[in-house]
Amino acid sequence: MKWRETVWMAVAWMCVVGAAQAQTPSHQGMRYEAQRVPSSGATVSRSEAKDVAEAPVTDDTDPCSSEKPAMKPVSKPVHVRTIVIDPGHGGENEGAIGVARIHEKYLTLQVAQLLADRLRELLPDVEIVLTRQRDESISLSERIEVANRLNADLFLSLHFNNSLNPLAIGFESFWGGDYWAADMQKAGEEITDEIRELRTRTGAASERMGRCFNHAMRHRFDVLDRGVKTGDYTVLTRAKVPAVVLEMAFLSHAEEGMSAVRPDYQARLVQALTDAVMNYVNGL
Ligand SMILES: [Zn+2]
Repeated sequence: MKWRETVWMAVAWMCVVGAAQAQTPSHQGMRYEAQRVPSSGATVSRSEAKDVAEAPVTDDTDPCSSEKPAMKPVSKPVHVRTIVIDPGHGGENEGAIGVARIHEKYLTLQVAQLLADRLRELLPDVEIVLTRQRDESISLSERIEVANRLNADLFLSLHFNNSLNPLAIGFESFWGGDYWAADMQKAGEEITDEIRELRTRTGAASERMGRCFNHAMRHRFDVLDRGVKTGDYTVLTRAKVPAVVLEMAFLSHAEEGMSAVRPDYQARLVQALTDAVMNYVNGL
């Protein structure tokens, strides 16, 4: 190759690299970086996953609500005794399978266990309970009953999304809205003022947790925020405690679906979930 061609090749290469860097989200202004996440391909043990998790988001404004101002210090969680984490699906209910050909039930359990470990470290006085520890079948009402029985402060049902549209991408969260009322009427149960008051209170808290999750995910991942929505799901309509269903990524999407099975990606999900829970807890 002549020197002139070599120079042009070098210039062209620098342009390509420059363009690639420009497309990388800079996350300027954030107090933490995703750069400490181990590079892809590395096997992340549970303890390593803890190392990459850092302090939660500490923006100038409360990320979970437009009404409240600054965040309280992370080290002073209040009013919280029990958090229930529900790894979606399990046993015969395998969930979505997606492009990586690994069932959702395995992925939700992996993320749930990593999240439980991390929260136990950050919140040693809080009891962290999983609805399942292994690959087993549990009904939807049994899952939420675990949280109701313990009068949990928070119930998180972890899921991965699936769509016939291969381009569907991003994360979303669900809380129960008013669906509980129709559910109770169908079951022939009386809706008292006390129940209405409870559901209003837990509903507001659930929606807030949804916002905490979406906010934290926006900071950790450069993908579509599909919003905080209401959903007619049993784990939400039967909930007597703040409860959300969190759809973390699309297993059916070519890129997101392959990423979701990678340990480094799961470690980032755990970081986002941890941020969300800590922001929620500190805002109570
Ligand atoms: Zn699911």
